[in-house]
Amino acid sequence: MQTAYKFKLQPNKKQVELLEDWQQKVGYIQNRSLGDRIATYSNTFVQGDYCDLYSRRFVCSAYLYCDLETQVLVSPLHCSVSKSASLGYPWKTDNPKLRRAKPDKDGRIKPFNPKRSAVELHSSWLTEFKKTHPEYSTVNADVLQQSLRHIDSAFNKFFTSGAGFPNFKQHSRVGFEFKPGTVRINKNYITFPTLGTMRFFDSREIPPSWEIRTVTISRDIDCWYVAVLLRDETVPDVPLKPLSECKTIQGADVGIKKLVALSDGLIIENPQFLKLAARRIEIRQRRVSRKTKGSNNRKKAAKRLARTHQKVRRKREDHQWKAAKKMAGNADITAFENLNIKGMKSRCKPRVDPVSGRYIKNGQAAKSALNKAISDAAWYSLRQKTLHQAAKLGNRVIEVDPKYTSQECPECHQISSENRDKEKFVCVACGHSDDADVNGAVNQAHRGKKKLGIDSLLVVSQKVTPTKPASQEASSVPRDESRNPAKSTVKRRQLLLLKVKSTQSEPKSRTLF
Ligand SMILES: [Zn+2]
Repeated sequence: MQTAYKFKLQPNKKQVELLEDWQQKVGYIQNRSLGDRIATYSNTFVQGDYCDLYSRRFVCSAYLYCDLETQVLVSPLHCSVSKSASLGYPWKTDNPKLRRAKPDKDGRIKPFNPKRSAVELHSSWLTEFKKTHPEYSTVNADVLQQSLRHIDSAFNKFFTSGAGFPNFKQHSRVGFEFKPGTVRINKNYITFPTLGTMRFFDSREIPPSWEIRTVTISRDIDCWYVAVLLRDETVPDVPLKPLSECKTIQGADVGIKKLVALSDGLIIENPQFLKLAARRIEIRQRRVSRKTKGSNNRKKAAKRLARTHQKVRRKREDHQWKAAKKMAGNADITAFENLNIKGMKSRCKPRVDPVSGRYIKNGQAAKSALNKAISDAAWYSLRQKTLHQAAKLGNRVIEVDPKYTSQECPECHQISSENRDKEKFVCVACGHSDDADVNGAVNQAHRGKKKLGIDSLLVVSQKVTPTKPASQEASSVPRDESRNPAKSTVKRRQLLLLKVKSTQSEPKSRTLF
């Protein structure tokens, strides 16, 4: 099993200077490596008579020379022999002793590839580069090499696993990774190669049986941090529960006023930390903009502003982790809506007055406040945290279609916009009533059940469906206030497992996670 702990470092002044110097150098190497990867990749699409693929200059007669054998004019192309990188020497050593042909999975031995891979090319370039730039020898060699490997994996992930395209990094955001076995930890002292020993806040104890793997130093507004990856092979990973063993399913409806409403009636409020700090941010932002550009005072003010944002971020993270932990242990499967958050935050279309041809109000001002609130709620990050917490327990998180979850009646499946009256849900057809968000969560749980195609799943719900005989009280009678989930407190709520009758046979579909 692997896990990571993050600690705050206490470097001394010299070490801080060294770390800042490293950031500049590692940042330059990383960005140059990425730039080369991008340039070489785009060169593979270049068509035409270019003399130099980088500058895309046309073939100039001065650059042409005549091939003596064929009597044909030849242009000396400067393109690389490698498709993936152009920095560095492209060929592997030709020494037959060093030719390593490894057998693959099926036992077949691949022929020796004389070309270096992109990361090998860059690695050999770095060695040459350091000869001409001796100031780079102050940086730990492994740290520089690891940074090249990071660029390589980021670039490859874009093409293979659908990750985002790697960006050029600001040097102040660059971190360093140390190889396993190079960093030692003793009580609250940590020793890095080249950097030396520094103290750190040992806010949590590292179990002695855990082996220290890669160690990464990163920088935040206030201080430097170290993330330690720990591994203990004697501790097994928690396996995901097989679907046949899953017994309960819950829906989780995310929103702005209520961060999450669960199908069992549990409601987690959204404190809207960004909104709470909006005035303070506004004041501090103004103080930054009124100071002279490039002045020390401006830098100080900017740091103060950044601290305010950091506090908001940390409060949100803390709240979300707590919420995620609560949700993940509530049921075997949690169903979230598959929301198009980017689409929800898109700008309103511009409206043009047909008479005057001028732009008129399109409601974007009001929308931008909503967009801010959506960003502040950070639903995606909440889902990821729930997934993380659920994985620790072997529980699952799935995604369901969000269409009409707030308008559908879970009793009679009537879909109507009239069903919803702000925060209350009252079905126009059968009179079923509930908190609108909890009702949405119940719908999601049912959809999740349908998607998985397991009829035996119990939907974790607060209310028992009217299985009573029709002679008893009419279902349209509104329930008393104390049973209204919106008004009841968390303590009073009880988890009632409700067995839902399997009314129809549903098709099977695959799980997302
Ligand atoms: Zn109904």
